[in-house]
Amino acid sequence: MKQEFSIPKLSRELRSELDAYVLLEDLRWGGAPESCPKCGAVGRRYFLNPANGASRKTRTGEDSERRIWKCGHCRKKYSVLTDTIFHGTKISIRTWLLVMFEFCASKNSISAWETSRKYEVTNQTAWHMLHRIREAMKMEPVSGLLGGAVQVDETWIGGAPKNRHRSDPREQPRPYGTTDKQPIVSLVHYESRSVRSKVVADVTAKSLLPAIREVMDPKRTHLHTDSARAYQQIAGEFAVHEYVNHSAGEYARGNVEGRLTYKPMVAKVDF
Ligand SMILES: [Zn+2]
Repeated sequence: MKQEFSIPKLSRELRSELDAYVLLEDLRWGGAPESCPKCGAVGRRYFLNPANGASRKTRTGEDSERRIWKCGHCRKKYSVLTDTIFHGTKISIRTWLLVMFEFCASKNSISAWETSRKYEVTNQTAWHMLHRIREAMKMEPVSGLLGGAVQVDETWIGGAPKNRHRSDPREQPRPYGTTDKQPIVSLVHYESRSVRSKVVADVTAKSLLPAIREVMDPKRTHLHTDSARAYQQIAGEFAVHEYVNHSAGEYARGNVEGRLTYKPMVAKVDF
């Protein structure tokens, strides 16, 4: 959470469960979801308005202030809780956010007993919440490995060969298919609007897969790439692989872009 929180601010902004959903959507998506967490489709979501305008009935007939989104592509419903530590929780999101705030703001962490008394949850629930928060904080980002749509592309640094002089030692004959430039693989994650770049030894399947795995959970990832053979070789590891074929003059298909056109809000470069 990059936003600064305080008890006065939270008590102002978190008056209801609905407020908690809106705040979480803001923290996770910056407002509305960018891509579907189930299928990775970009920009095809719509908000499901509850029939009575404010709340909806749960399976048990209780009123629920959950905010539900639906994907226009796979038709699946999801919420801001999907793929996070809050997924499937029976505890209110408002309580979760307050406990997380206190957990992060306390110098010496907080105990399950203390949480149980302050937030009117059983001691067992409090223990479970603190455990999940602690586990999540060990990981980066908060929800663990990322899922959803990711665009992967490789770039080379070291200058284009056409700009080199004939006498440049790098222009001397070398085995076919080898280069002295440094390959870098870049991952553009649609949902978090972030870019990760990593130096790799080469652009073979053997080097690319571990680099992607450091950030993404392959089983929940929709891989968007160009048609390079290395990606075809690792495609089976991912939920879906979509690619564009540059040699056939194809540069964008559906939400698959052939180049890094997505403008990231946060650029995170790890070397
Ligand atoms: Zn979808």
